[in-house]
Amino acid sequence: MSVVIVGAGPAGTRAAEVLVGAGLRPTVIDEAPENGGRIYQRQPTGFHRTARALYGFEAAKANAIHAAFDRLRASIDFRPRTLAWNLRSGVIDTICDGKARAVPFAQTILCTGAMDRVIPLPGWTLPGVFTLGGSQISLKAQGCAIGARVAFLGTGPLLYLVAYQYARAGAQVAAVLDTTPFSTKAAQAFGLMRGGTTFAKGLYYITWLRAHGIPIIEGGTPLAIGGDGQVESLSWRDTRGITHEAAVDAVALGFGLKPEAQLADLAGVPFDFDPVQHNWVPRRDPSGRTSVEGVFLAGDGSGIRGADLAEAAGARAAWAVIAARGLAVDAHAVARLDATLVAGATFRAALELAFPFPTQLAADMAVDTILCRCEAITAGELRAAANEALATLPPSEVNRAKALTRVGMGRCQGRVCGAAAAEVLAATLSCPVEEVGRLRGQPPVKPIPILPAEAA
Ligand SMILES: Cc1cc2nc3c(=O)[nH]c(=O)nc-3n(C[C@H](O)[C@H](O)[C@H](O)COP(=O)(O)OP(=O)(O)OC[C@H]3O[C@@H](n4cnc5c(N)ncnc54)[C@H](O)[C@@H]3O)c2cc1C
Repeated sequence: MSVVIVGAGPAGTRAAEVLVGAGLRPTVIDEAPENGGRIYQRQPTGFHRTARALYGFEAAKANAIHAAFDRLRASIDFRPRTLAWNLRSGVIDTICDGKARAVPFAQTILCTGAMDRVIPLPGWTLPGVFTLGGSQISLKAQGCAIGARVAFLGTGPLLYLVAYQYARAGAQVAAVLDTTPFSTKAAQAFGLMRGGTTFAKGLYYITWLRAHGIPIIEGGTPLAIGGDGQVESLSWRDTRGITHEAAVDAVALGFGLKPEAQLADLAGVPFDFDPVQHNWVPRRDPSGRTSVEGVFLAGDGSGIRGADLAEAAGARAAWAVIAARGLAVDAHAVARLDATLVAGATFRAALELAFPFPTQLAADMAVDTILCRCEAITAGELRAAANEALATLPPSEVNRAKALTRVGMGRCQGRVCGAAAAEVLAATLSCPVEEVGRLRGQPPVKPIPILPAEAA
C-alpha cells in the first residue's frame, strides 16, 4: 500500500523527494491547484511575474522547491485541487472537482501547514477585513491588494513582512499596529540573533517601512474597525493611553500562526499545549512519528517552525516512514536533518517569545463583539453560558461551551474563532487557557459540497 502525503508545501515536497529516492511512489494530495504551499505558492496559469517579484528574498528557495517538485512529477501520484476532508483508520477521504474518493494508506505524512490566529475585535466582520495570510495570498496569487489604503494589525514576523510586500507592490500602508511592545522583542535579542539572515531580513523590513514614513505602533491596543457596510477606519490606544484613528479601506490582521492539525486530530494523535507557541500541538517524536500506527507529521502542521525547518522536517519524516517500511535508511542524512532541526529550535522559540499571542486582548473582548462569525455568537453570550455552566456543571471546557452556545460549530469548525474562544472562556473561568482544552477536530475539516449518494 502507498504512502500518502497531504500537503505539497516545503515539508511535503522534501518528504516526497526522499521517498522517491528510496524507490517509493507516494501519492501527494493538495487542495491547492498547484504545489508550493503557503510561502512558495505558485502563481495561477497566465500570470507571469518573476520569482523575485513574488517571493522577494526567498526567490531562490522558492525556485529550488518548485524545481524539486517538477523533477518529482513523473515519479509521484500528484493530486492537486484535492481536499483531504477526513482521516479514519488507514484511509483518507478526499474530494476533487466534486468527486469523492477514499485513499487508503499504509503510512501517511501530514504536511498540512498553518493558518493565521485571529482575535476578533469590533468591526472585524466588515467587508474589507482579511487575515494577514489572506491579504498575502491576494497579492501573491492574484496580484491584488485588499484595499487602496490598508492597515496591518496583529503581531509576529508576518505582520511586518506582508506590510512590506504591500508597500513594495504600490499599496498605501496607513499603519502597522503591533500589539507587542518593543521591550518584549528586545528581551529576546540574543535568541533572535541565532536566526542569522532570517533575523536580518526581519530587521530590514522594519527599517524599510520606517524609512518610507510608514507609522509603526508598538504595544498598541486595537479598539475597533469602524465603517458602515465597509471598512472606513481603525482605532487604537497607544502605550500612553491616547486614542488614535486612521482612515483606511481595508485591514489585515493576524496574531501569529497555529498548526492546521485537524487531520492529525481525526487520526487520534494526542495533543499537548505548548506554552511557548501558546498553541495546541499534535504529539510526535523528533522524527515526526506519532503514537498512531502509520501516521507521521511534518512542517508547520506539527508545530510552528517556519519554512526552512519545514523542509528538514518533511525529509526527516520520510526517513521515519522508510524505516517503518523496513527499507535502508541513510544514517548520515538523518543525523544532518536532526542537527538542523535542533539548531533551528532556539531561534524559533525566541521568535514566539518575541511576539507573544496577546491573551489579554482576547480576555478583554467587548461583550457585543462577534466572537464566532459563522454562528454570530458574541463574547458576552459565551461568558454568560460559561457563568451559568459554572453553577451547574463540573469544570467547563471549550467543547462544552460549543455545545451550549454553538461557538465554533459553523462552517469553519472553530478554525478561526477557536483560539480566541478558549481565551474568553478561560478568562471567564479564571483558569489557565490550557485547562479549557481545545475544540476537537470534526469531519469535514473544511466545507465540502453535498454529494449525490452514488459519489459518497
Ligand atoms: C497564509 C500564510 C502565509 C505565509 N507567508 C509566509 C511568508 O511569506 N514567509 C514566511 O517565511 N512564512 C510564511 N508563512 C509561514 C510558512 O508558510 C510556513 O512556515 C511554511 O510554508 C510551512 O511549510 P509546510 O510545508 O509545513 O506548510 P505549507 O507551506 O502551508 O503547505 C501546506 C499545504 O497543505 C495543503 N493542505 C492543508 N490542509 C489540506 C487538506 N486538508 N487537504 C489537502 N491539502 C491541504 C495546503 O493547501 C498547502 O499547500 C505563511 C503562513 C501562512 C498560513
